[in-house]
Amino acid sequence: AEKLIVQTEKLKLAGEIAAGVAHEIRNPMTVISGFIQMMNTDDQHPYQTYTKLIESELERINLIISEFLILAKPHVTKAKEFHIEKILQDVVLLFSPELNLRSILLKESWKARYAIVVGEQNQIKQVIINIVKNAIEALSNGGSLEISTDLETQGFVTIHIRDNGEGMTQEVVNQIFEPFFTTKTTGTGLGMMISQKIIQEHGGKILINSQLNKGTVVSILLPYTQSEKSASSS
Ligand code: ADP
Ligand code: MG
Repeated sequence: AEKLIVQTEKLKLAGEIAAGVAHEIRNPMTVISGFIQMMNTDDQHPYQTYTKLIESELERINLIISEFLILAKPHVTKAKEFHIEKILQDVVLLFSPELNLRSILLKESWKARYAIVVGEQNQIKQVIINIVKNAIEALSNGGSLEISTDLETQGFVTIHIRDNGEGMTQEVVNQIFEPFFTTKTTGTGLGMMISQKIIQEHGGKILINSQLNKGTVVSILLPYTQSEKSASSS
């Protein structure tokens, strides 16, 4: 009987990983569709502007599959130093066609220019994409999305992703990190669970502040160090 339980658990885990991979791949695919839509309607820019970005998103799909397999393993060992704001600005660029198409106003505020995070930047990028995507999905056309960074005294860099969309009840907030918890018809409910796992593995945390019909602020706290550049010049 014990063996049967172990096998059932393994099957369940395999299913969760498969669903997670599908979920994460849907994100770059949405971005690719956005660029293709732009190519179909935009005759002012050379198509290479878009094909290069499509190519890099296809590379991302490849990476996501391997990264997801890393996530399924107990030890993450590919830690490197990277500028956190660079990752955020990359993600902003990825979503720009979708923001344009839906007339969503983007506000940016960068206050952590020299902050360096140690970890797997592709996983952190995945977290930002998951959270920005949720914010966009909560917005109706013409809403606003705000992305900002700040440095805390406790050695944390904070990333705030704010939307003035549908917001959440306390009951929803309480379940947001549960695997497969979703209020969407096509949602998988894995994005926030995976995001929390990744941020915790980096020594950080995710905080949710939300008000129904007013909007949501998702704050990501990550330990950081300053790059040498900030010490000499600014
Ligand atoms: P999914 O997006 O597939 O539903 P997630 O794990 O990303 O799964 O999110 C879980 C749930 O949390 C969503 O279904 C939604 O109800 C809620 N949620 C997350 N982010 C927001 C947000 N910015 N605004 C409103 N609701 C949100
Ligand atoms: Mg989501």
